[in-house]
Amino acid sequence: MHTQFVERHIRSLSIAKTCAELGARIRTVSYITGLEHNELVRLFFVDKHSAPRGRPPDSPEWYHQKATLIGKVEAAMVVAVYCRMRDLGFGPTDALVGGFKHYREQCNQSPRINFDRAFDLVCHTQGIWIADRPQLALATCPRCQSQHLTSLGERPSHHRPCPFCKLVKRYWYDKRVQATFPPRSQSVRLIVSVLVGRWLSDVGADAESPPRNARFRLAKVVSAAG
Ligand SMILES: [Zn+2]
Repeated sequence: MHTQFVERHIRSLSIAKTCAELGARIRTVSYITGLEHNELVRLFFVDKHSAPRGRPPDSPEWYHQKATLIGKVEAAMVVAVYCRMRDLGFGPTDALVGGFKHYREQCNQSPRINFDRAFDLVCHTQGIWIADRPQLALATCPRCQSQHLTSLGERPSHHRPCPFCKLVKRYWYDKRVQATFPPRSQSVRLIVSVLVGRWLSDVGADAESPPRNARFRLAKVVSAAG
């Protein structure tokens, strides 16, 4: 029994170290690992000023009121990668830490989602750690089939473009969007593999669709990814 406790504690310390290196605030690390605030400060935040400070993220408010289009797209990427890792059998902590690392490695520019935001998004879509119940959900867009974040219970509409529909519409004339998701980049590959991969197999059949069709335009971005 004692050995199990020691092994669990060592694993918690290892996760805490990784979270601190990823830029997590002390509160976040404490929720994820269950380690006490004072122990975390003593071991990983000796210089208290190095830890992120200020008001912690409030993702439901941020997503609906403040997030940019690119922020919404990257938020969906983070949550979708987390869900994919959970589906593969990883626990919540490994899915969050591993998924965030994967997301960060794929970004061509500074990630729009920091670790605390990723933690908060996962909490509010899964109803875990700080959240008693989910307030956000991953939904599939009926227009482009991409997974994106919505309020819990909100039904995506064919008449309401999702962030990926908007991203594709803007892609060819918005330099900032192109710089964030360059053709043939890892970030576009991540969008393709995680969010729209489900229907890639029938892109060929869709290629005859009119150019104004959202799926056709998305297919063009996807095919530019090589
Ligand atoms: Zn869409």
